[in-house]
Amino acid sequence: MRNLIRETLILATLLAARVPAAAPAPPAQALARLAAGNRRYVAHHARHRIPVNAAERARVAQKQKPFAIVLACSDSRVVPELIFDQRLGDLFIIRVAGNITDPVVLGSIEYAAVQFGTPLVLVLGHQRCGAVTAAVEAKEPPAGNVGAILRTIGPAVERARTLCPDPSGPKLVECAIQQNIRQAERHLLDNSPVLAGLVRAGRLVVAGGEYQLDTGRVSFLPPEPAPEPKAPLPPSEAKAQAAR
Ligand SMILES: [Zn+2]
Repeated sequence: MRNLIRETLILATLLAARVPAAAPAPPAQALARLAAGNRRYVAHHARHRIPVNAAERARVAQKQKPFAIVLACSDSRVVPELIFDQRLGDLFIIRVAGNITDPVVLGSIEYAAVQFGTPLVLVLGHQRCGAVTAAVEAKEPPAGNVGAILRTIGPAVERARTLCPDPSGPKLVECAIQQNIRQAERHLLDNSPVLAGLVRAGRLVVAGGEYQLDTGRVSFLPPEPAPEPKAPLPPSEAKAQAAR
């Protein structure tokens, strides 16, 4: 019960922070729907069964209307349809090791947000992520394509080394997993004018969550505090900058 109250408070805070007051309800409903599905999964009360039958396939054969976009890790144990107890056609999923972003990932997310009007993007990291652990442990990222994944995660690891209260061992990995989720959230908004515009219009929410392999529970991350407004420059410095 305590977890449920905490989760409800975080969801309410996430939505209050990210959706303008006049926004329509879909982003809120989408987030609540994922949270409810995860509660069913954790409690072993899943409604939806795999394999699906022919009628269920036919229901979505001609069109799709996913209510949430999930950017998840490729880890074989993190299967969004299962852990959120959703059906065929409910989730538009991009899976890549370390739940990282690049132009192809951004394009996939933009496609769903625009084409289907999907109102929620959830960046889903997970406990003991192998990609993040490798990025923490690597002295130098290896050459080649795996190195490209670790180099993308690298800045999140550096942030974790600065921000984590105990930057050693498993605690550092845990902290880096959360920073890596944050990094992907920021990257979506900083590098996609399409997604940033939908967020400003209140038609899209970008949220982060972490899946716990041990319990099956998804913890939704509270919103990051807004950046501090920059203090005005002293008049002499402002004048010097204007002259440059
Ligand atoms: Zn992973």
